[in-house]
Amino acid sequence: MSGLRTSVFKAGLEALYLTGAHRMLRPITGGIGAILMLHHVRPAEPRDFAPNALLEVTPDYLDSVVERVRQAGFDIVAMDEVPGRIALGGEGRPFVAFTFDDGYRDNAEFAYPILKKHGAPFTIYLPTSFMDRRGELWWLVLEHTVRTQRAVTATIAGRSVHFDCSTASLKTEAFREIYWWLRSLPETELRAYVRDLSARHGIDFRDICRDLCMTWDEVRALGADPLVTFGAHTVEHLMLAKFPEETVRQELVASKARVKDELGRPVHHFAYPVGDPTSAGPREFALAREAGFTTAVTTRPGVLFAEHADHLTALPRVSLNGHFQSLRYLDVLLSGAAFAFFNRFRRVNAA
Ligand SMILES: [Zn+2]
Repeated sequence: MSGLRTSVFKAGLEALYLTGAHRMLRPITGGIGAILMLHHVRPAEPRDFAPNALLEVTPDYLDSVVERVRQAGFDIVAMDEVPGRIALGGEGRPFVAFTFDDGYRDNAEFAYPILKKHGAPFTIYLPTSFMDRRGELWWLVLEHTVRTQRAVTATIAGRSVHFDCSTASLKTEAFREIYWWLRSLPETELRAYVRDLSARHGIDFRDICRDLCMTWDEVRALGADPLVTFGAHTVEHLMLAKFPEETVRQELVASKARVKDELGRPVHHFAYPVGDPTSAGPREFALAREAGFTTAVTTRPGVLFAEHADHLTALPRVSLNGHFQSLRYLDVLLSGAAFAFFNRFRRVNAA
């Protein structure tokens, strides 16, 4: 989310909480369950420049979320159980599934002990090139470059633009501008730019992957616990909707097969990288089904309704976002009220 959208959304959560509207709206907006989305879980580091902070929460926050969810009467279920729970409609108890994207090592180090303590099942979606130590985590490479350099150059709309990165606020501005310019490019160009940028500044993108992501051995060690499910998250972590159908099919099928081979068990669940409407749409939802996935999750915000039974490869999620690490926001998010406004009271958004 952009800075502006984040603050508007936060103000909305705050207003819903303060007025108690989320409780009043519950009968209209409340779904039957929710899939929570997380990325990094690690202790907070005080940093002035943290453009990807929305992608991390602290272990303490995760701990309090698990407790709150249970206290509020939600069952915590594995993704394998989600289709059955959706099929029950409003009949069963409300439920929550915990999901983590990208296979970060901090999931094993900090999230796992907490979830284990609570006996809570969870799913991690793996982009297989990350476990192969050659993943291009381009958004983090860009962050690292901007953090370590005093100036960065980008060729935007054919013009060479020089960004002063000498202070934290200038870094934040430069990151935002370059990031959103990159998001507007075809992904092959985006990657070529970040590869070139990191090379020019002596940064090896493979180091970032090695530092942050689990190896296959670490994945297998974590997977020895039946609380853990692994899903696929493509091979190269591509924004699929921007690629030809053949590439999408290949990414779906190859990542499913690879995770299965490495773990020796079938893979039924998938997460679309980036996962917003510009990265995953109706074509991807159909191809994920065709590739044999039982469920596939987006990053479209929302809770689950009985109607999602017909859209199991286009499921929305509730982001446990670094910008909203407050239990009062969690209450509003789980009520579904915020998403009802966000989605203009449409329950299923799979277009
Ligand atoms: Zn991802």
